Amino acid sequence: MTDQTVGLVSAASLGAWLLKANPTIYPIAEWIQDRPDEPVTSWSVQRNYRSAMMEAGQPVYLWISGDGRDIEPGVWGYGVVTGPCEVGTADSRWLDRDAASGAGYYAMTEINFLASPVSRSALNSDPRFADLEVLKVPAGSNPSFLTIDQARALRELAQAADRGTCPRCRNGEILHVVFGMLPPGSLDGEPPWVTEGGCVIMGLPTNRHCPACGLDWLATSGGRPQARTLHELRTLLGCDSTAGLEDLLWDHCDVDVHVEDVPDDHDEVGALSLRIGTRGVTLEFPFSVTEFIVTVDELLAEVLDDWDEELRG
Ligand SMILES: [Zn+2]
Repeated sequence: MTDQTVGLVSAASLGAWLLKANPTIYPIAEWIQDRPDEPVTSWSVQRNYRSAMMEAGQPVYLWISGDGRDIEPGVWGYGVVTGPCEVGTADSRWLDRDAASGAGYYAMTEINFLASPVSRSALNSDPRFADLEVLKVPAGSNPSFLTIDQARALRELAQAADRGTCPRCRNGEILHVVFGMLPPGSLDGEPPWVTEGGCVIMGLPTNRHCPACGLDWLATSGGRPQARTLHELRTLLGCDSTAGLEDLLWDHCDVDVHVEDVPDDHDEVGALSLRIGTRGVTLEFPFSVTEFIVTVDELLAEVLDDWDEELRG
């Protein structure tokens, strides 16, 4: 048996698993749009010798197929297998009910979405992936897999895709900062822009730094900037005052949005209150900028519905 033998994978030749998502069967584009920080903890797979080989600690990628109408096809997530596959049932989000009723076996994972994908076209034009199963046999087994060499090459591309950009000045040459007492060699194999930050003495810890504009911020594993205070939210959105933030929301919504701190029991800021007209919502820190905008949009939709009803009533 060699690595070229299509369809055969062994523990010795396995570099990583690749789980496939079809956007016409499951609304994966919507998930990434609305809940990019929510990891994929289980994914439907076929019950075969491959899924029987899945075990905790193995690297795994999430692949999105399709014609590119809803979402760019390619690798969108990276993580690990957390345990053996389990029997289960499809959740209510499945778009294709026939496919859902046939989905009874699930890989257990912790997969985070990348800041940007490694596109199918990028892999197609890279000779290191000439034999990649998902490119050669797109309709083949799920899980698909990568050889050790393919997995090493993809790790490099996925790390670069996950680097992200500065939320303030859009610079792409940002640094990922790892804090804490790291044992020697911890960052071996990491790209040169992953640096050691030492120990945090004071202030809120951050894990991203922009050398161009000096901004320090906290990002999730998928690269999304997180706000832990109203001040951080303003900084991430480039507003130097709460009034400035409200102006920005006015531009976004075309209506007045009122923003206010909600202090917690310890006299610190624990949440943010958003109000449009008579409707309001409280959003607890920390949250990502994406979650903030989605919440604003949801509140706006409720208010517009109210106004519609008033007009009709
Ligand atoms: Zn910057």
